Amino acid sequence: MIGVAVLGSTGSVGESTLDVLARNPGRFRLVAVAAHTNAASLARQVLKWQPRYAALADPRAASQLRSLLGSGAPGTQVLTGPEALEQIAQAPEVDCVMAAIVGAVGLSSTLAAARAGKRVLLANKEPLVMAGGLLIEAARAAGATLLPIDSEHNAIFQCLPSGSQAGVVPAGLRRILLTASGGPFLDLPAEALESVTPQAACRHPNWVMGRKISVDSATLMNKGLELIEACELFGVTAQQVQIVVHPQSIVHSLVEYIDGSVLAQLGAPDMRTPIAHALGWPERIPSGVEFLDLLKTGRLDFRAPDTVRFRCLALAQAAASAGGLHPVLLNAANEVAVAAFLEGRLNFTGIAAVIEAVVEQCPAGAAGDLQQVQAADAEGRARARERILGLTGSAAVRGAHA
Ligand code: MG
Repeated sequence: MIGVAVLGSTGSVGESTLDVLARNPGRFRLVAVAAHTNAASLARQVLKWQPRYAALADPRAASQLRSLLGSGAPGTQVLTGPEALEQIAQAPEVDCVMAAIVGAVGLSSTLAAARAGKRVLLANKEPLVMAGGLLIEAARAAGATLLPIDSEHNAIFQCLPSGSQAGVVPAGLRRILLTASGGPFLDLPAEALESVTPQAACRHPNWVMGRKISVDSATLMNKGLELIEACELFGVTAQQVQIVVHPQSIVHSLVEYIDGSVLAQLGAPDMRTPIAHALGWPERIPSGVEFLDLLKTGRLDFRAPDTVRFRCLALAQAAASAGGLHPVLLNAANEVAVAAFLEGRLNFTGIAAVIEAVVEQCPAGAAGDLQQVQAADAEGRARARERILGLTGSAAVRGAHA
């Protein structure tokens, strides 16, 4: 039995992971679940699965969890605080860690899992964007296996020769074609983008996801972060990745080789496919997804992304080419700007304006060690907050939704 820890178990990827585990009894044992604050959902999972550990980052939520559990889960140890996630990621009973915590807060536990030599399923893209080099180096040193869960990167991984190493470009690879759904505002005119609501931004046409990543999909920043993620994971340059808008979300990405062959991975837009692929790898296990019927799908469309209307993508492409601390600042500013948009303090087009102002002041040079990355992350957040305050009352926030 493979011991699995799910970090971010109450989110959309976390719930999908538990669904795949439930379809494969006898193969996996759920050892740990962890979430940020959602005590009610975590209690439901603990009562059903009776894991060895349950963690909530927020101490008040953890005491709420203890009272919700009562005597219903006698074998479960409830943990809390920032170290709890790292403790779980390194626990000896854990073989495989699903890293599905949204945002930069997932970095330390993902690194801890890599350093402990676990199989790490990377659903959280921010740690790779911030500190991909450090993460891949830690995994290499400890003999950990990194497997991508982001549907595009999982697709690319499936199209690579077996034995490919994280961070090393496989021989004969010419280009990666990274597909993008285009999000809910694909055909919306530029003027209309200024007044879109958080609700509309979170209504993705193909995928069911959390709010932060839904907004990132609507701005196309998600694709920009995925570009950086692809460069880190597969050792390619930003120029070797072509972003292709594919509104049906059936082709999850493609790899082109020097002989002209293009390999693609296709499937229904359901995260349980990449999750099952990585959990079972190198074997295949059932995932519960609806099988693809190409006759029903009918057509597959592809077009170039519009980096003028979707300025976040252009900013991410520039950060991917610049390297160093640029992706760290880009990600930090984006997290703060998206939170402000979701809270009605910034309008949709203001997200790119805030990021641009923060990234402009990025120092040159290499990213450095974890402390330097974390310092740049904090700096980027502080500058983004200042910028949002500075914009209050100006044109950039007009039309924001309180
Ligand atoms: Mg993706």
